[in-house]
Amino acid sequence: MEKKRVAKPIRAVVFDLDGTLYLSGKPFVGAVETVCRVAEHVPVYYLSNNTSKSPVFYKNRLLKMGLPLQGDSAIISALTLALQKIHQEKIKNVFFFGNPEVTEWFAAQDPSLNLRPSIKETELVLVAYHNSFDYKELCEVSWRIQRGVRFWVTHSDLVCPDAMGPVPDIGSFLSMFETAYHVRPEFSFGKPNPDMLAPVLNHCAAEEILLVGDRLYTDFELAIRSGCRFALALCGETSRSDLARQARQPDIVAETVADIDFDSCFQKGI
Ligand SMILES: [Mg+2]
Repeated sequence: MEKKRVAKPIRAVVFDLDGTLYLSGKPFVGAVETVCRVAEHVPVYYLSNNTSKSPVFYKNRLLKMGLPLQGDSAIISALTLALQKIHQEKIKNVFFFGNPEVTEWFAAQDPSLNLRPSIKETELVLVAYHNSFDYKELCEVSWRIQRGVRFWVTHSDLVCPDAMGPVPDIGSFLSMFETAYHVRPEFSFGKPNPDMLAPVLNHCAAEEILLVGDRLYTDFELAIRSGCRFALALCGETSRSDLARQARQPDIVAETVADIDFDSCFQKGI
């Protein structure tokens, strides 16, 4: 028999970005004001799988939008987790497939890494969400992974939200590599990997964290795997008919983040 859950006040809120707070860099109506109000009560974190930009870019974007930022650790990125794993495994020659700005950020985090090793030197291929590559770069990845070089991805989302309609993300690239070479990555670091919530779990228990997101297979799945509460915003990828097909339902469902009753979450709990 399932144990009856005790409602606990929320002590931290983690917001997804694309499709939850904004779309194509344009904030949803009331989103910024809502997050500012939430930040007056509890610490606020931002967690995105989108590695097409570096954490520094996100910091500047969020500040420009007027979103509150309580320290650099408030932005949680799969790039940081990938870097930690590279250090743990003492890997030095990493063929990094990412946008130039992200490659530059990654190199600055550890100048001892060789991010453009020859095929022979390469110990690892790390694929970030690269949306400005040319075909030669794609071939460079292909020549390495078809030879059995270790292969990691920052995340596995199938598509990335865009105002014109969803565009292919790493998960779709993976289908291409699997078709061509029958290879799959050894690690995917982003949501729904529960390690993404480690910086928040250092400060409070899982059931005291409210994750706010728009996607079922990354955001909601992360909440389920980590044991935190989940609020689904219907302004992004998920429709009410998608939700109706789910056996397990989110704790809160709202049209946008501005429609979530955060005061009740802080006072009565979820
Ligand atoms: Mg999203």
